[in-house]
Amino acid sequence: MKYIIIGGVAGGATAAARTRRNDENGEIILIEKGEYISYANCGLPYYIGGVIDNREKLFVQTPATFGKRFNIDVRVKNEAIRIDTAHHTIAIRQSDGVVYNETYDKLLLSPGASPVKPPLEGIDNEGIFTLRNVKDTDHIKNFISNKKIKRAVIVGAGFIGLEMAENLHNAGIEVSIVEMANQVMSPLDYSMAAYVQQELLQKGVKLYLEKSVSGFRKIDEQLQVMLKSGETIDTDMVLLSIGVRAETTLAKTADVKIGEAGGIWVDEYLQTSVQDIYAVGDAIEFPHPVTHKPWLNFLANPANRQARIVADNMVFGHNTTYEGAIGTAIAKVFDMTVASTGLAAKRLKQMDINYCSSVTHSASHAGYYPGAMPMTIKITFDPQSGRLFGAQCIGHEGVDKRIDQISVIIKNEGTIYDLMKLEQTYAPPFSSAKDPVAIAGYVAGNIINGTMPVITWRDFYKADLSDAMLIDTRTQEEYSFGAIGGAVNIPLDELREHLDEIPRDKTIYVYCAVGLRGYLAQRILMGRGYKNVSNISGGYKTYSTAIAALKYLENQNSFSVPENNLQKSLLTSDDAQSELTYTGTIHKIDACGLQCPGPVMKMKKTIDSITEGERIQITATDAGFARDAEAWCRTTGNKLIS
Ligand code: FAD
Repeated sequence: MKYIIIGGVAGGATAAARTRRNDENGEIILIEKGEYISYANCGLPYYIGGVIDNREKLFVQTPATFGKRFNIDVRVKNEAIRIDTAHHTIAIRQSDGVVYNETYDKLLLSPGASPVKPPLEGIDNEGIFTLRNVKDTDHIKNFISNKKIKRAVIVGAGFIGLEMAENLHNAGIEVSIVEMANQVMSPLDYSMAAYVQQELLQKGVKLYLEKSVSGFRKIDEQLQVMLKSGETIDTDMVLLSIGVRAETTLAKTADVKIGEAGGIWVDEYLQTSVQDIYAVGDAIEFPHPVTHKPWLNFLANPANRQARIVADNMVFGHNTTYEGAIGTAIAKVFDMTVASTGLAAKRLKQMDINYCSSVTHSASHAGYYPGAMPMTIKITFDPQSGRLFGAQCIGHEGVDKRIDQISVIIKNEGTIYDLMKLEQTYAPPFSSAKDPVAIAGYVAGNIINGTMPVITWRDFYKADLSDAMLIDTRTQEEYSFGAIGGAVNIPLDELREHLDEIPRDKTIYVYCAVGLRGYLAQRILMGRGYKNVSNISGGYKTYSTAIAALKYLENQNSFSVPENNLQKSLLTSDDAQSELTYTGTIHKIDACGLQCPGPVMKMKKTIDSITEGERIQITATDAGFARDAEAWCRTTGNKLIS
């Protein structure tokens, strides 16, 4: 049997190795148009940023070692250009331009995807890049060091765009991001993306949202990015990260069917519409297990899984089927981890699928054990059956394991009740006895069975409050640090004494910091006969973060990156001198694990108890703390040193 495999990275190299393990005697030829095979394309941003310091570490195998170990004829710098299905041959062009033919018994296409590069004015100027392979990486890395790049504009705020933002920032480059949508990271819902935006802004990244690029201009040594709004951004380099297209050029020469999503159509055995031609990876489309609609999924895990299946099917016959991918993805964005799986609320809405959503805020591990970090989980599910549709998680540690657990449930057509049934490991440094995933399930259960009617931040924002009462159930102190406009503060523990102030004929909205006290207040009110009581899902934390993102969108033109973006010190030279000579008391406060406004309250309490001129040093994990601390110091006349 003679197998030809096109594409030598994720799908192609994996399939080639598995084919050899399955068939020791077959002839296997791996055709790759680039110079390298089996390299870590997911690691490329980290090599550019210097986190991966040695270029060699990117190469899992070389053509020679791979060829030797698996007895595979590896041909790099060879491009497959045409398939002749009638004669089972493929035309291949060498780097010297010579074209030759090879016959095949089984042909596998794993040509990946190509970066989108729209025909904009000036797009071919020097200094404008896309990132897909080692060659692109070398160009970018050399350009940065040769030209001593100080500023970069990233067009597109998807997972790779944001990974690059972090890495360029770490390399000492001032980064701006231009994104056509009104949020970063399109697989996330708006309120979840708002946390990512907060993180980017705090790190000093400038965000241009709802802005599209109209072209590029070269002015002397510098580039100018022109926006349709008329604004321009001066920069030294541009990275285009506006998405990829399934690579179907070769497939089309064989009249292979291209599906409705624009990828190569394959059946459940990963065979294309043409016998003996198979396809895997970024180039294919496949029905989504939840929507059953074909979709493109540009991720490494499915490419590797498909490669294993297809190798089995090519060698042993059509015995193994592929189940499809739901799109489980994760990215590190500065200090934050962002992950999602399945369908977000906005996609469900677009597809007219009836759904319900729930937002829960937890700590990554037991709050009393040092270092607990905030974590937010949003899940979407069927309001009747509880079938899970999707989940998004944002936090600093343990985000991956939560999303991975949920993705297994979604792929197995599970429900929110399965979230409760998960039997997770627990000890204080790792989790809580009620894990954040279980909490997400319990809350969703309460929503479905009617014990906790909720309203989303967006529906509340649009709601007519003329015939409603809004109750903030947090303490007076928390309320004083910021509340939703029009809210009456009735702390949870005083609620029973204030029932006569709460009208029975109106809609009552309750909220607290994250949702729990709102729920308890709701139970009291419902237990006392109130009929129409809704808790704002995710509490003030979700609402205020989403509203801050909306406000940023409205005012982004006048927004300047805060000087105190955690990387910089606020010290003037006089301060710096006094800092060096300061010998007074420094009160150290640990506010890790506390949600906003907890750290500010702790800071206030300490400042109230110390003597004028003494200092405090506070460590917090809440993403909004730097902003809150700065604002609080400004309004109270305290000095924020750094
Ligand atoms: P590829 O791995 O891209 O391989 C396709 C190969 O085919 C290419 O080398 C190409 O040169 C070759 N080829 C194409 N046409 C021909 C032809 N006609 N003849 C010969 N050779 C041809 N996914 C994740 O899940 N997590 C991540 O963190 C992540 N990070 C990423 C970061 C970057 C910078 C990039 C670019 C991608 C990242 N991905 C990530 C996506 C992941 O790398 C892809 O989903 C995966 O590599 C797809 O595998 P593939 O085999 O389909 O395509």
